[in-house]
Amino acid sequence: MELRLFDTYERKLRVFSPLDERKVKIYACGPTVYDHAHIGNLRTYLFEDLLKRTLIWNGYDVEHVINITDVGHLVSDGDEGEDKMEIGSKKSGMNAWELADFYTKTFKQDLERLNILSPDIWCKATDHIPEQIAFIEDLEKKDFTYRLEDGIYFDSRKLKSYGYLARLDIEGLKEGARVEAGDRRFLTDFALWKFSPEHSTRQMEWDSPWGKGFPGWHIECSAMSAKFLGDFFDIHCGGEDHIPVHHTNEIAQTEASRGTRLANFWMHGYFLRLDEAKMSKSSGTFLTLDALEDKGFDPLVYRYFCLGGHYRTQISFTQDGLQAAQTSLNRLYELAFGWGEPGKIHGPTLDSIRSDLNDDLAMPKALATIWRMVKSNLEPSAKKATLLEFDKVLGLNIDQWRPQKLDVPDKVRDLVKRRTQARRAKHWAEADAIRQEISALGYNIKDEGDETTILPQ
Ligand code: AMP
Ligand code: ZN
Repeated sequence: MELRLFDTYERKLRVFSPLDERKVKIYACGPTVYDHAHIGNLRTYLFEDLLKRTLIWNGYDVEHVINITDVGHLVSDGDEGEDKMEIGSKKSGMNAWELADFYTKTFKQDLERLNILSPDIWCKATDHIPEQIAFIEDLEKKDFTYRLEDGIYFDSRKLKSYGYLARLDIEGLKEGARVEAGDRRFLTDFALWKFSPEHSTRQMEWDSPWGKGFPGWHIECSAMSAKFLGDFFDIHCGGEDHIPVHHTNEIAQTEASRGTRLANFWMHGYFLRLDEAKMSKSSGTFLTLDALEDKGFDPLVYRYFCLGGHYRTQISFTQDGLQAAQTSLNRLYELAFGWGEPGKIHGPTLDSIRSDLNDDLAMPKALATIWRMVKSNLEPSAKKATLLEFDKVLGLNIDQWRPQKLDVPDKVRDLVKRRTQARRAKHWAEADAIRQEISALGYNIKDEGDETTILPQ
């Protein structure tokens, strides 16, 4: 079955096929590790996990790289202000290296708690300074750079295709752009290498052919993706905010140096909005996975919540929405547990799910398909087998779920005992009547041979 994905570069759905037969190479822009990831950031990694699991489900091998931005991401996308790592360090009392280590660990733990498949390769910007310097030297040789007092810049007007990904209106930008550009030759020019301030030392700085300093944010992704995946690979992804600046500049660097647009597909996850406001780490109004857990929500509930919205639409985060996700997910777990052993997969349901997912990862549609099956009168063993197969993409660990130890009142336990005796004596009418009494008290029961489990309703 064909897999169609939306490519931001072409602004359309395209049939996906890997460049290298069965191996799909994916690069996902990673976190800037100066603070905890917020649940908005994590939505983007959940989208990438859905993409990866769908590719695997389609029979592909996936090679997945996530980078760690531990230097060079400045407060403003216009290459101004301080490095986020240096600010985070001052705030936290840790030095910039300890800070990066600490938040890299918490980020990896977040991914694990959300059951996001680990990438094959993690790579850190600070481990790849020579590769970034070599990349900039190449751009310099090809005459795409110029020097200002505070760093080496990319001359975006030298690249004809600059801004295509974001459909930037370069002619329009020329109007009135002089002031905002500061010393730069043009508004969209960006830093490749920034010099350390003259009279102070940065915690993170390196020697370079141009002077002591640190790399700009975008160059790390061009340099590391080339190292691990080559100059042109299958899919590059990130959040939608990367379209106009970060990804536009990654493409510019690679196009100028290697002559490719870096990736065959560019895919973007849309934002999670909190209280109708854009969520950002620096604004301070962000929610973490820990904060959700403190309120009693398992990370997989957040995963289920995100699966309920298409990756190409923004979703608003509300506690009611999360509550509803928790109710649905618990219901699914309990029902699936109650269905017992899996039997034969129900082909038509699975085909329908596959066609939903292969249509640009239409997970909300696939979930609706599965809920129709759940409510149908299909054999429980077929429901179980089909759901477990789909769970390879859902990633909700459905098979591992067990009912929690319930605080069951003595009265209910007595009724269950009496019912077991009635069943043993083959007094079916009495056993049924007791089941109804138990149900009226808010509990379900599930029989497996002679064993009876008590479940919440
Ligand atoms: P950062 O740590 O800021 O570099 O961001 C890590 C990832 O999270 C990037 O792919 C961003 O595009 C993405 N991102 C940032 N804010 C949000 C949000 N509110 N919703 C979804 N993704 C986001
Ligand atoms: Zn990147």
